[in-house]
Amino acid sequence: MHTFFAQFLGGSTTTDCIPKIESLRHAEIGTLLGYNIEAELDGSSKGMKLIAAQTEHVLSSIETQGALARKFYPDTSKTGGDNRCWVRIKVTGLLPNPVALYRGSNAILAARKEKGLDADVPYPGLPHDGDWDAALTGPGVTPSDREELLHLRAILEKIAQRAREHNVRIVIDAEQSWYQPVIDSLSDELMQKYNALDGGPATCIASFQAYLRRYPQLLEQQIARAEEKGYKLLIKQVRGAYMVTEAARWEKEGREGPGPVWASKDESDASYDYGIARALEVVAGQARESGHARIGVVLATHNSISIELAIKLLEKYGMARRVGGEGEEGLLVVSDEAAGSIAFAQLYGMKDDLTNKITGSVTAAGGFPLVVKSMSYGDLNECLPFLARRATENEAVLEG
Ligand SMILES: Cc1cc2nc3c(=O)[nH]c(=O)nc-3n(C[C@H](O)[C@H](O)[C@H](O)COP(=O)(O)OP(=O)(O)OC[C@H]3O[C@@H](n4cnc5c(N)ncnc54)[C@H](O)[C@@H]3O)c2cc1C
Repeated sequence: MHTFFAQFLGGSTTTDCIPKIESLRHAEIGTLLGYNIEAELDGSSKGMKLIAAQTEHVLSSIETQGALARKFYPDTSKTGGDNRCWVRIKVTGLLPNPVALYRGSNAILAARKEKGLDADVPYPGLPHDGDWDAALTGPGVTPSDREELLHLRAILEKIAQRAREHNVRIVIDAEQSWYQPVIDSLSDELMQKYNALDGGPATCIASFQAYLRRYPQLLEQQIARAEEKGYKLLIKQVRGAYMVTEAARWEKEGREGPGPVWASKDESDASYDYGIARALEVVAGQARESGHARIGVVLATHNSISIELAIKLLEKYGMARRVGGEGEEGLLVVSDEAAGSIAFAQLYGMKDDLTNKITGSVTAAGGFPLVVKSMSYGDLNECLPFLARRATENEAVLEG
């Protein structure tokens, strides 16, 4: 177990993680540091003391990354404020029981239906103004849900403020679709406030899952919404981790029509690749027009085909030029305008070959990392669900 722990986790504390973060950085790899917090596996509620302690861990991750950012990349003027020292958060772990997110999300969906919104958008729809009020006041939301949601929002505010003070970006994970309307609403609110174009450096990155049928519509809506409301849209694009439970839940709830996830891997792949092409096209267009992009995308994937596609498009859209040889031979150098708006991401302890292939194929001025490793850390008990997921993905590691 000790070897397995060391393979996939940065350690038990931020102090354990620092030498690993530094060593990655020397190889031009950034980090997405996350204290591993999960909802209780048996569905029981966490006490407020535990939530407060876990929030302190998130704040301490931010401070650690802030100190490293000041050391590694103090001047972020050329990269749109980014230094690639990020912190990850999982919303379901920051409230006593995620059932409040579920009931709040259902209330949001009911309110949108009443307003005639999203009639042609697959579950769980798109974020709209008024979602948060619906989550607090809609049918089925209990007074204790309301209290938990308000407390959650206050915690996220505190985290975002601390992140802003340290110029550390926070990445809000995407979770099960039945929690997403509330998570989308909070991510949307934080981006509007902490990524405002006329404010300081953008601070919040939302995560979107391409395996959801809604994804192409969501991406278009988010690009238009950010332009309309004047904030920097920052997204981490993933395929999605909850395919099995998504199907089971859809069936259990007796919902009609196809489930929220595409019916085949090919469709999820097409949705992911559409997202790559669309996001990079927008980054390139905005950088060309105004010298800086108003959206940024993190391509979080272990899929080499998607990564190769993105690298090709960087060159095709004029965001990178090849030096030292033709075709695969040369190294791609990404322009300053694009570098702060594009990143690749893999999990710590996984797919190092792919991460190294990226650093060996694309680079940016001043050693600015174009790839980050998502490094979880924490107490062994807190990390067991995370390690169980890694065990499923890496059976060979356990066998060896
Ligand atoms: C840095 C990082 C951060 C992450 N953060 C999140 C997060 O916030 N939220 C989250 O949900 N996940 C997250 N993940 C996990 C991610 O969603 C994927 O589960 C995982 O990366 C595998 O997908 P892939 O693109 O790497 O590889 P691939 O092996 O190409 O894709 C596997 C994925 O394809 C999809 N898929 C497989 N079979 C089918 C099918 N029959 N029909 C439809 N779709 C199918 C599923 O999404 C599956 O996970 C993260 C991953 C990384 C690397």
